[in-house]
Amino acid sequence: MNDKVLTPDICVIGAGSGGLTVAAAAAQFGVSVVLIERHKMGGDCLNYGCVPSKALLAAGKHAHAMRHGSIYGIGNAAPDVDFAAVMEHVHGVIGAIAPNDSVERFTALGVQVIQEEARFVDERTVQAGNHTIRARRFVIATGSSPMVPPIEGLDEVEYFTNETIFSRTTLPEHLIIAGGGPIGLEMAQAHRRLGAQVTVVEADKALGKDDPEMARLLIDRLKGEGIDIREQTKVARLEKLDEGQIRVYVSGRQGETAIDGSTLLVATGRRPNLQALDLEKAGVEHDRSGVKVNDKLRSTNSRIYAIGDAAGGLQFTHVANYHAGLVIRAILFRLPAREKRHILPWVTYTDPELAHIGLTEDQARNEGKLNKVLRWPFAENDRAQAERKTTGLIKIVTGKGGRIIGVTILGAGAGEMMNMWALAVAKGLKVSDITGYVAPYPTLSEVGKRAAVSYYADKTESPVVRGLIRFLRLFG
Ligand SMILES: Cc1cc2nc3c(=O)[nH]c(=O)nc-3n(C[C@H](O)[C@H](O)[C@H](O)COP(=O)(O)OP(=O)(O)OC[C@H]3O[C@@H](n4cnc5c(N)ncnc54)[C@H](O)[C@@H]3O)c2cc1C
Repeated sequence: MNDKVLTPDICVIGAGSGGLTVAAAAAQFGVSVVLIERHKMGGDCLNYGCVPSKALLAAGKHAHAMRHGSIYGIGNAAPDVDFAAVMEHVHGVIGAIAPNDSVERFTALGVQVIQEEARFVDERTVQAGNHTIRARRFVIATGSSPMVPPIEGLDEVEYFTNETIFSRTTLPEHLIIAGGGPIGLEMAQAHRRLGAQVTVVEADKALGKDDPEMARLLIDRLKGEGIDIREQTKVARLEKLDEGQIRVYVSGRQGETAIDGSTLLVATGRRPNLQALDLEKAGVEHDRSGVKVNDKLRSTNSRIYAIGDAAGGLQFTHVANYHAGLVIRAILFRLPAREKRHILPWVTYTDPELAHIGLTEDQARNEGKLNKVLRWPFAENDRAQAERKTTGLIKIVTGKGGRIIGVTILGAGAGEMMNMWALAVAKGLKVSDITGYVAPYPTLSEVGKRAAVSYYADKTESPVVRGLIRFLRLFG
């Protein structure tokens, strides 16, 4: 029994993307930190999220490339997919990254790691196993879990979520995915390319948070790879068939129909992990989307902050990391630290990738901020032609004076390209800043510069200036 009360400066609950960043930064500044984790160090991203999903997509991409070599003059080959070995690759990638997030590393940094579940006992005390922690500040970084809707028959069939799908060692014969968001579609493409039949059932529009035009192009492309994507279709009930098969009854525009499959993945959204925390005892208000925080990420108990998925905003690793930076600024340095949601990008890592930041065209129009939308297709980019990756385009949404207020990119490497646009939006750059730098040729990123140049296309009637624009378009 350890009945000593710990009194660190900061107590972090949850050792995932956000919590680890706070703990590491605080320890490096010499501040005393207790970090509490009830399950796996690294949280969702490392163990059940970003890392395994990207590793599985990489395997699928390789299989797809083998099937389509002939466009480069190399014979098509049917890949011999050993799914157990693919999963070894996935877990090998997790294993390679895991030491960075390990108890050993954090202990060496000076963090006291407690491997227990945490709960508040009053407004300034947390209990974790035998440990009582009375910290100056607490950071709730408990992440989120798959939200499994109450579907009739669900408890009679075996189903998977992101927490269990990466433990499989056999390729599903027919994977039915409930949910057409980024997680559902990434898993759909990875499994399809590795040889599974895949059906996605989405109650609303697939990729409903993205620019509708760009999302549609991606969905059509995924359908072209043989993924059956049914939108405006709800999973109504489930039935267990013989030999492990599942019948999924769906209701949509055509009424109720049945889809028979071998495996069901539920990817219908996320809910914050708050249940175990006894937040009422700490005076921390919360709702279904997460802890209620102000723009400084402070909860209704000013001693307690919430970050990442638990804070109810955009649920991405880089957002959790960004939140961690803000909280560190506020707690350690008392510097002004306000969340700026408009500077947060996101990417769906299908092939092609779909990356977005800021306002979509429709949002900018509805908010009365839309000046011009600039576009450039990948098909007009020399590198995309050379690589045979011509699907996609960039859309730049501009506001007053040509300020860049939103960017969506669909195409190969869109996630990498988004780095530059995230900088542009964060720094309030204008299209003139983009026309004013030299892009190396031939790179896919040139699509952005070409789109930016088109801002000036109808700015003048002067033939000289129009000629200059044409020149810039050709050689700029
Ligand atoms: C399949 C999938 C793919 C994804 N891909 C991407 C991607 O490509 N890019 C991206 O940016 N994001 C991606 N995400 C989202 C990303 O994983 C999350 O946004 C990120 O992990 C959130 O970090 P966090 O620190 O808030 O929570 P987490 O990383 O989930 O960490 C929370 C930790 O808190 C612990 N915990 C919970 N309650 C308690 C308690 N009471 N006591 C002690 N410990 C507790 C949990 O065990 C967990 O380890 C993906 C998610 C999924 C599911």
